[in-house]
Amino acid sequence: MSHPLFDISGRTALVTGSSRGIGLALARGLAEAGCTVVLNGRDADRLDEAAAGLPGDVHTAAFDVTDGPSVAAGIADVEERVGPLDILVNNAGMQLRAPLLEFGEADWHRILDTNLTSAFLVGREAARRMTERGHGKIVNICSLQSEVARPGIAPYAATKGALKMLTKGMCADWGPHGVQVNGLGPGYIETELTQALVEDEEFSAWVRRRTPAGRWGRTEDLVGGVLFLASPAADFIGGQVLYVDGGMTSVL
Ligand code: NDP
Repeated sequence: MSHPLFDISGRTALVTGSSRGIGLALARGLAEAGCTVVLNGRDADRLDEAAAGLPGDVHTAAFDVTDGPSVAAGIADVEERVGPLDILVNNAGMQLRAPLLEFGEADWHRILDTNLTSAFLVGREAARRMTERGHGKIVNICSLQSEVARPGIAPYAATKGALKMLTKGMCADWGPHGVQVNGLGPGYIETELTQALVEDEEFSAWVRRRTPAGRWGRTEDLVGGVLFLASPAADFIGGQVLYVDGGMTSVL
């Protein structure tokens, strides 16, 4: 029998950006742990397809996490249709790679909105309700780029570094009301977002060399960390980022 500290069955969890990739793997993990799961993304058909492949009680909520009114309506609708949210995973994100001198202003705002403003908007809307009920768990999907920068990825690193600090700020504001907020920082994980890097043999070999675990991460590698941070076992952990990166962030 598993330890009751890790039991999250019966909770309701929303994972943003879960039509594919990391979000979908996290949603699957939460569903397998007995949660009622709500998938989110912008494409309703893609969400239905994703939901059909998951076990248990799975729902979908198509809304754009960068748009305040859509987020407010989306969260209200989820709570009415599915029930009170116990767990929120702010996972939706994007990456744009370009040297900073060539990076356009519109792209700057787009990546900031998608990776940072989204967590503020969805987090605030969920936390309004969670703080009133006196409990909740929020996990913000950060990145190893919350800690270290690489050439050609400065705006992405800026969003993820700021998300780390937003995680700490959310913890400071909402922790006293029973809502625990932490981050999870993936290393290099094979998904659509990193497809071009995986296919670049030189870069791919660099990742394997630089990672103590000697390989790229898989989406399933991230599930345990999120289940842990969402569980009672992490009740006294707040404002931390758990790096799940095969050790990469820790070595030179
Ligand atoms: P993918 O590109 O594979 O998936 C991104 C997901 O976010 C999709 O479901 C997409 O759905 C959704 N999404 C994007 N924009 C929006 C929006 N405005 N509103 C709602 N949903 C949106 O990315 P990954 O799975 O690789 O990444 C997931 C998270 O993990 C991101 O935050 C990323 O920064 C982070 N991360 C990833 C790493 C990696 O190596 N892959 C490493 C470190 C962090 P749709 O397009 O249908 O709306």
